[in-house]
Amino acid sequence: MMAGKISGLHHVTAIASDPQRNLDFYAGLLGLRFVKRTVNFDDPGTYHFYFGDNRGTPGTILTFFPWPRARRGSRGPGQIESTAFAISPDSIGYWRDRLQQQHVVAEKISRFGEEGIRFVDPDGLLLELVGSRTLAAVEPWPEGPIPLEHAVRGFHSVSAALEGYENTARLITETFGYRLVDESGNRFRFASTDENAPGRIIDLLCTPDTGFGTVAAGSVHHIAFRAKDDAEQLAWRNRLVELGYNVTPVVDRTYFHSIYFREPGGVLFEIATEPPGFTLDEKVDELGTHLRIPSWMEAGRPQIEKILPPIQLPA
Ligand code: ZN
Repeated sequence: MMAGKISGLHHVTAIASDPQRNLDFYAGLLGLRFVKRTVNFDDPGTYHFYFGDNRGTPGTILTFFPWPRARRGSRGPGQIESTAFAISPDSIGYWRDRLQQQHVVAEKISRFGEEGIRFVDPDGLLLELVGSRTLAAVEPWPEGPIPLEHAVRGFHSVSAALEGYENTARLITETFGYRLVDESGNRFRFASTDENAPGRIIDLLCTPDTGFGTVAAGSVHHIAFRAKDDAEQLAWRNRLVELGYNVTPVVDRTYFHSIYFREPGGVLFEIATEPPGFTLDEKVDELGTHLRIPSWMEAGRPQIEKILPPIQLPA
């Protein structure tokens, strides 16, 4: 099988510190659905949180490793600078007011004909809400705190900070099938050709004059692109290896399968399969309500539950 084109992001994974504060911000304030409460498979004494739309649709998933006493990272080349969610262009005022009421300082942004706001989460992670004329067919959380017309509608884009952009641009155009759709100053916007897909945009941002960032709390750890299934993922793996990338073997993340490699600018990329998805072990109406751990860890559940800090779902 030949690798086709990438249609967009699968998820973005970032690092946080306090788990409850993270949960309150993303589920309580931003109204993302808490779709999976699990543990870091490499460190089961710590959580792995997944937020997304009502069903955990790929392209809406923001995940966190909340490490209670993590120090704060810094932004710089080789990192994702900001993560943007799509909202309706008519919802910008709603969000400005909501953030202000919750004492979150937001500033206006205007880019390539789209308006939005940007702000940071409690750990310093830079986020944007961008008014987008084409909203992806994702399913906002009906039980959430945000009126459905204003709800977050999956990812709009990510901005990757790089020293230079050409090699990364070559990877995402020649290999992933993205196109350069706009540019301004040091920002180059690429988009997949799948026009209604969530998270189809990536901006490459040349910031050669700042020091390299450090990945810790408040930073994005990696971004994942979508593959339709295992066969397509394997085709991607073969293609990337042919191009000279060091690519990990396929890793089973229970809800998807993953391969990882570092793109030429230093950002950690992943390609994750859409199946089996977050409804593998919980029904849609139960997503996020129980601690789910992989079957091979179940024997250790009592101890894991004792170590994990208690959390409460926002009312
Ligand atoms: Zn990942």
